[in-house]
This record gives sequence, structure tokens and C-alpha cells, in this order.
Amino acid sequence: MRLGALEAGGTKMVLAVFTENGEMLDRISLPTLTPDETMPEMIRYFKEQAVDALGIGCFGPLDLNPASPTYGSITMTPKLPWRMYPITSAFHEALGVPVALDTDVNGAALAEATLGAAKGLSSCLYVTIGTGIGGGVVIGGKCVHGLMHPELGHQLVMPHPEDPTPKGFCPYHDSCLEGLAAGPAIEKRWGISAKELPHDHVGWTIEVDAIAKLCHNAIMSFSPEKIILGGGVMQQSFLFPRIRRRTLELLGGYISSPQVDNELEDYIVPPALDTLSGITGAYLLARQALAI
Ligand code: ADP
Ligand code: ZN
Repeated sequence: MRLGALEAGGTKMVLAVFTENGEMLDRISLPTLTPDETMPEMIRYFKEQAVDALGIGCFGPLDLNPASPTYGSITMTPKLPWRMYPITSAFHEALGVPVALDTDVNGAALAEATLGAAKGLSSCLYVTIGTGIGGGVVIGGKCVHGLMHPELGHQLVMPHPEDPTPKGFCPYHDSCLEGLAAGPAIEKRWGISAKELPHDHVGWTIEVDAIAKLCHNAIMSFSPEKIILGGGVMQQSFLFPRIRRRTLELLGGYISSPQVDNELEDYIVPPALDTLSGITGAYLLARQALAI
């Protein structure tokens, strides 16, 4: 059995083939252009690789409601050529194999819950803090879907009192997490790349505060057993202890559990699968497509 995996991102597509047991046999990466340009290349690859199923972890938002006429499509993405693109049916028709679709972050959360930092637990939250902020949620071993899927990056958070741009930079919302704390927000606010912002800059205090508010809200909303923070901004590993500390302050002693008593040391963590969470999630989605 050969399982195809696609991590569909706004700038690049990562395509891979796995054995049924999760050994990666091949992997390539292509730039994300328009569907007319990129889809034929991806279809050619998966045909050549003779995959028996395909799992896709994709940038959103996505229509994941099986009762909807546009089920399996990318919906209102700002990446205009992909808006309302029926990615699931396009692959299904071209390859003639089962195809499963979920958000890139739900896929990554599934991978971390099955094989990574939350292995052995039945719930986790995976958040990427990079060009945007996205959160995937696994509860009871399953990715959470509902009205559509969680969009944790667009939750509203109370801005830090020292934030000079408290409305943030999201074109849709004032003071949403992504608009306040994604990499480009740091860069727009301070006119310097997040990589170069000194560790003692107030910008990091503001960043830590926003991410800790996300952790607080997630704990209060759906009580994940692990919070996994990834993405480019979290390459700044000095942020982890500061986020744990600020989250504890925000929790205000209200939650008691062994993880909290341990100062969130093993609770708010980096991804164990490192940069492979996304593509591994797509492989697990391919398994789900075959119900294996
Ligand atoms: P994407 O979100 O596009 O998949 P990343 O997760 O790598 O990709 O996020 C890229 C963003 O993360 C960049 O815009 C930059 O703001 C930020 N970033 C990348 N590397 C670092 C770093 N080492 N330190 C701080 N910020 C970084
Ligand atoms: Zn927003």
C-alpha cells in the first residue's frame, strides 16, 4: 500500500509518499502557483507514485461539512486563485483513489497526538505561529469539525496595554490573535524582522502576552491535555518559559492539575515531530481515507 500525502501551503506544496506503516519513501516540494499551474504537476507526481489514497492537510478556510454542495473545497482564502477551488474532488477525479482533506493544522495536531508530543493522550491543541496563526484541535483522538473547523488564530484577545498598534493587522478583525502576534504583525509594528528583535524588547512581552492569552482561552474553552506551539516565530525558544509563566499568571490559580502544578513545563511544548508534523498529518489522513 502506498499512501500519498500533501501539505498544501500558501507558498509551497510538500508532496510525499509513505508506506502503510508510516515510512516516508519520497518527498518533493513545489511552489504554490495557481491551480491551473500547480494541480497538473501534483497529479502527475501522485500518478507516477501510484498512490492508493491521498491525505491533504491544506491552508484554509475549508468546507469540511459532508452535507454541503462545496464539501472538500478551499473557501474564502485570500489566496485568490484558490478561492472556492474543489481540491478534494479534483484529486479524487484525477487519481481515482480515496482522498481525505483537513486543515494543515488539524493534520499537524493529529500527527502530534498520534506519534508526537501528545502521543498517548486523547486531546491536544497544535498552533503554528508564522506568517499567520492557525490552530488544530484533536479531541477524543479526532480532529474537531463543526460549523467548519476551529479558526483559533482569529480569536479576539485583549491587547497588551503597551501595544502601540492595539488593533493589530488582520484585514477582517480588530485585535485578533493573528493580527496582533503573527510574524508579519511583529514586523509591521516594529519595522524590524522578528528574527532581529532583541530578546529584551517590549515587542516580545506583547507577543508572549498574546500567545499566553491563546493558551488561557484554549484551556478554558476545551481543556486540551497538551498545547503544542510551532511555526517560525516559535523558533525563538526563549519564548517557551515566558509563555508558560504568563499563562500561569493569567490562569490565576483557577485550574489545578498536575501539569499546572509542574509550571506547565510538559504542557506547553514545541512539536515533537519538528517540521514533519504537517506532512505526517497528511499521511494519517490518507490512512483515514482508507479507513485503516
Ligand atoms: P509559514 O507560516 O509561511 O508556513 P513559518 O512558520 O516559517 O512559515 O513562518 C514564517 C514567519 O515566521 C516569518 O514571516 C517570520 O515573521 C517568522 N519567523 C521565521 N523564522 C523566525 C525566527 N527564527 N525567529 C522569529 N520569527 C521567525
Ligand atoms: Zn483576524
